Amino acid sequence: MASTTATSTITRETAPISLKTFNVPNTDSKVAKATAAVYDWDTFKFEPIRESQVSRAMTRRYFKDLDTYAESDIVIVGAGSSGLTAAYILARARPDLKIAIIEANVAVGGGCFLGGQLFSSMVLRKPADQFIRELGIEYEEEDNFIVVKHAALFITKLCSKVLELPNVKLFNATCVEDLITRPTDDGKVRVAGVVTNWTLVSMHHDDQSCMDPNTINAKIIISCTGHDGPMGAFCVKRLVSQGYIQRNQMGCLDMNRAEDAIVKGTREVFPGLIVAGMELSECDSSNRMGPTFGAMVLSGVKAAEEALNIYETRAKQDADSY
Ligand SMILES: Cc1cc2nc3c(=O)[nH]c(=O)nc-3n(C[C@H](O)[C@H](O)[C@H](O)COP(=O)(O)OP(=O)(O)OC[C@H]3O[C@@H](n4cnc5c(N)ncnc54)[C@H](O)[C@@H]3O)c2cc1C
Repeated sequence: MASTTATSTITRETAPISLKTFNVPNTDSKVAKATAAVYDWDTFKFEPIRESQVSRAMTRRYFKDLDTYAESDIVIVGAGSSGLTAAYILARARPDLKIAIIEANVAVGGGCFLGGQLFSSMVLRKPADQFIRELGIEYEEEDNFIVVKHAALFITKLCSKVLELPNVKLFNATCVEDLITRPTDDGKVRVAGVVTNWTLVSMHHDDQSCMDPNTINAKIIISCTGHDGPMGAFCVKRLVSQGYIQRNQMGCLDMNRAEDAIVKGTREVFPGLIVAGMELSECDSSNRMGPTFGAMVLSGVKAAEEALNIYETRAKQDADSY
């Protein structure tokens, strides 16, 4: 139903949308066998709309989200396989927490829209199959691993489940370009939020001026920005640039060692900052693993668990600081 708002100068009342009453049901059509939404194409017409209604429908909600999530409980940087898995576990475990996901690209998924070398299938070593079953995704089993027929099937299903959760907001086409820090009582520093900008703006800092960023305060940041690349390993590299942690380059490929190392190493690498997925290899020097995704998924699960373990401590610190 079209809504009217107090701020709206133009209002359009329309009848509640009911495809069956709006269109003449044609139960003989082939489409009718596939969907309850049946259309009579001879009389078909969309409900009228004014362009400003579209603008307001989007901007009103987006600015409300910006307002709501300016104070988030947890920010996840990067909506690849590890980031979205962490969001899924966290948001379901703690529906009371506000979780913002910041993704630099327009599309989610990171490196997980394809398998290795642009092939379609996605390989996950056991025991990551448990998570795939939980999502209700079909797979084929081969010895010690499973194969999902297309990586895009996994990532789109995971993303849709995450976005259905009421306590999650995905800000895509938005880039984390710095971290917020706060001094701690013991004279050290903790991460206390992220500095964001439209990705397209971030890409033009060299040729445009006065493009200050936006900020989100949060108790915990989970960084899942992937291994080093044009944008990857962002939070690790930022902390390294400040001398807070040591940089260690990703090691050479070894599937067996790499996946265990990533999952086991998933942790709070710096107060307030948990690192998961391939970004971790850039501070731990763990091996790359190539196109096998079990570690990305289970690293996301472990990152969520880590966040729940430290949440109360970091939330108290946050409440005690400005
Ligand atoms: C050429 C190439 C080679 C690869 N080789 C390997 C390999 O050998 N082994 C391997 O394990 N993996 C490799 N990968 C990556 C592979 O896809 C990963 O295993 C897997 O996708 C990593 O998952 P992730 O969740 O850690 O990060 P990713 O899937 O990389 O997702 C990271 C997400 O974070 C976003 N992001 C990055 N920086 C920011 C920022 N500042 N603000 C907001 N969002 C940000 C990115 O847009 C992306 O969506 C390769 C990828 C590419 C493109």
